[in-house]
Amino acid sequence: MPRKLLLLTFVLFAALAPAAHGQSSNANCRDLDGPGFTGWTSYGQLVAALDRIERTSQNGVDVEVIGKTNRGRELYAARVGTGDRVLLVTSAIHGNEKTGTEALLHWLKHIGSSQNAETKALLEGITLVAVPMINPDGGELNRRQNDHPWPEVVEMFPQLAGAEPAWYYSRSAGGFDLNRDFNPDLAYEPRAQDLPGADALPGFYLNPESRALRALYLDLRAEFGTVDAYVDLHHMGPCEQIEGDGDFVTVALDYPPLGPEDSDKYAAWPLLDQDKSRRYAYAAYLGMRDHAGNGNADQSPFLGGIARYFHPETRDLPGQARSSFALNGTGTVLFEVRGQSDDFGQKKNGQLTAIVQAGVAGLAERLADGSVDLLDGDRFFDLPDYGWDE
Ligand SMILES: [Zn+2]
Repeated sequence: MPRKLLLLTFVLFAALAPAAHGQSSNANCRDLDGPGFTGWTSYGQLVAALDRIERTSQNGVDVEVIGKTNRGRELYAARVGTGDRVLLVTSAIHGNEKTGTEALLHWLKHIGSSQNAETKALLEGITLVAVPMINPDGGELNRRQNDHPWPEVVEMFPQLAGAEPAWYYSRSAGGFDLNRDFNPDLAYEPRAQDLPGADALPGFYLNPESRALRALYLDLRAEFGTVDAYVDLHHMGPCEQIEGDGDFVTVALDYPPLGPEDSDKYAAWPLLDQDKSRRYAYAAYLGMRDHAGNGNADQSPFLGGIARYFHPETRDLPGQARSSFALNGTGTVLFEVRGQSDDFGQKKNGQLTAIVQAGVAGLAERLADGSVDLLDGDRFFDLPDYGWDE
């Protein structure tokens, strides 16, 4: 091994080793609803960062406004690449889950200007469309929900007067869990008789943020014929540990929760391909492995924390964006990175940001060169869980 590579390996190992490796206690583990805001990119900083990336990009990053939040903030999508496979990525649909925003900005900056052969091949193989902050109203309030009190919903949709609020509306927050507001019927408009709905039923597109994402998805489908891949970036709690060995979960990956696969509930959606979503999730895992191990992945304590997200076979949430898009034929991957703590500090947050970026890049590279299509989706089930798969 060349000395330079050896040194790099050492540096990566040192940087990627989690402080808590091997500990069986949950020290340094506080699960907070609204962890400290400082250190993360604010909405104002996001706008400035995207403008800078667009202006300085040598590979043609194009930043567009795709809509506005309920409080009037502009929603941005950054597009780069000329390939015919589309990768759509969103982050922070839950406003207080901020790691993915950092990862996307960092990655956009890199692939927006890098002139190396890998980046060139990547951008010839895919078109990346990244929405790094889809719920900035919630983000600025440092909370999960957007900012959309029910009376304002009824103003927007007068046909809902007198109806009960949707089940995923929080009266205490005066806003919605946007990741339940989607419906595989991409022409759906809210109807009073469908409310309040339930978790195993589709959502209602009641919010400007989810409607903007739907419109973007439809535009891309019209342009490319299909949206090949969708990645949704989230946080999970900081306290989950891989079963058996005590490693904290660093990232958990998932395919869409659409009930038992042998049920006929989704028979009317023949484009649904759960194995494709698992191939894509496994490609993301391989990207993280490349990054974490640098040739010695199996010995990396950091990699030991990559897991399968909570997914009992009956879990059924068609109102999630990834579920509704999957029913339309998109391969979709959920990332849940260890978060919701303010104890990590800048260095650990940087490590978690890097592993998320590596996972998205790993999928993107395998879409670009077509190798994702040759993966065995069942390998996804080789990833460990954290005690839920009994
Ligand atoms: Zn989330």
